[in-house]
Amino acid sequence: MRVPLLRTVPLSPKELAPPQHPLERLPEEWAEVLVAWGQPKYRGVQVFRWIHQRGIFDAEQMTDLPKALRQKLREEGLDGSLPVSAARGSMATDRTRKLLVRLHDGKDVETVLIPQLEKDPDVEDEDRDADRGVGLRPSDTVTQCISSQVGCAMGCMFCASGVAGLQRHLSTAEIVGQVLLGRATLEPQERLRNVVLMGMGEPLHNYDAVARTLVLLTHPDGIGLSTRRVTVSTSGLVPQIDRLGQDFGGQVALALSLHAVTDERRSSIMPINRKYPLAELVACLQRYPLPKRRRITLEYTLIAGVNDDPKDADKLADLMKRVPVKVNLIPMNPIAESDLNAPQWSGVERFAERLRSRGMTATVRKQRGNDVDAACGQLALYGPGGERSARTRRLPVTK
Ligand code: SAH
Ligand code: SF4
Repeated sequence: MRVPLLRTVPLSPKELAPPQHPLERLPEEWAEVLVAWGQPKYRGVQVFRWIHQRGIFDAEQMTDLPKALRQKLREEGLDGSLPVSAARGSMATDRTRKLLVRLHDGKDVETVLIPQLEKDPDVEDEDRDADRGVGLRPSDTVTQCISSQVGCAMGCMFCASGVAGLQRHLSTAEIVGQVLLGRATLEPQERLRNVVLMGMGEPLHNYDAVARTLVLLTHPDGIGLSTRRVTVSTSGLVPQIDRLGQDFGGQVALALSLHAVTDERRSSIMPINRKYPLAELVACLQRYPLPKRRRITLEYTLIAGVNDDPKDADKLADLMKRVPVKVNLIPMNPIAESDLNAPQWSGVERFAERLRSRGMTATVRKQRGNDVDAACGQLALYGPGGERSARTRRLPVTK
């Protein structure tokens, strides 16, 4: 007997925009289609599990379905192909993998699989430096970073996607397709535990497709990620943050890209701040229906001479006095289109320590996958011939 799972899917299919592709259907929606074909209702969840739990997209291999149904499903598009394909892959020395994902119209996005770091038992505790990633090693628990748009309309000055501008939204099938592709590349001992919408694009600008993606990724009969292990990262679209909070009861993890603590400075590097200034943003975070003991992540990309003054750390602490947050500091990864750069390492440490001295939790994001240009903000656009439109340089964070 199946033990009912306590986890609930927050939105019913009726509240979501209708599916546009077989990969986007929820079990109930499959059941509706299959019942119309004269099949029993329970076949809906069977087909859904084949696709999302087992990663089988060829109906011919769905061995517990009648032959005629398999044939019909193949005609429907379940012929083994996905709406996205891995055009190229590269593995960094730290086992971070980047997949270049080709879309049906020849455009590309990128997705990155990042083994989480764990303590290296061969290193003594006193020799470990977590901020710098010293004494840590990649584990078998993997986080996948996925893209939600080709390019991005938000125009942040330090970001390759922003500089490129928005080319188009991704469909749910294309977003979930990245996870299905990525999961298939894992080693047998590896497990996909977290998905972060921190690749190309502003996920909340593509709300409908992202909402359905979240329901699919967390469905207990599918990939089955826990909602708190799926993180939506946003530059701060206030109405959509409110909507996300309502639609998912605050269960989906939220990361806010803050990057500056005054309106003047934030607007100068993030144009979206002119529309939703800091006071509105902070009020919005305060009303996000966060479950007890959970916190909102603040991402803070440290840019030399722009936002790395220790006094900014004090302002940050003041600004977030009433919001439960933890801060993730990201030394800026250089992009070809901008002269902005990361501070010296000592500046990163100073900022982190200042936050900590104010009682805040602050971590420094480890530079992962640099040797394959897979770090934050470096996911660049490729032309149809596969050439990079934005060349990225290696990371220069120095001691
Ligand atoms: N659009 C969303 C999610 C994608 S960007 C957002 O902005 O939150 C994911 C994170 O990478 C964001 O915090 C973003 O500000 C950061 N980022 C972008 N470009 C970067 C760069 N060049 N170096 C370091 N972090 C960068
Ligand atoms: Fe878009 Fe995020 Fe890049 Fe800003 S940082 S341009 S919101 S992807």
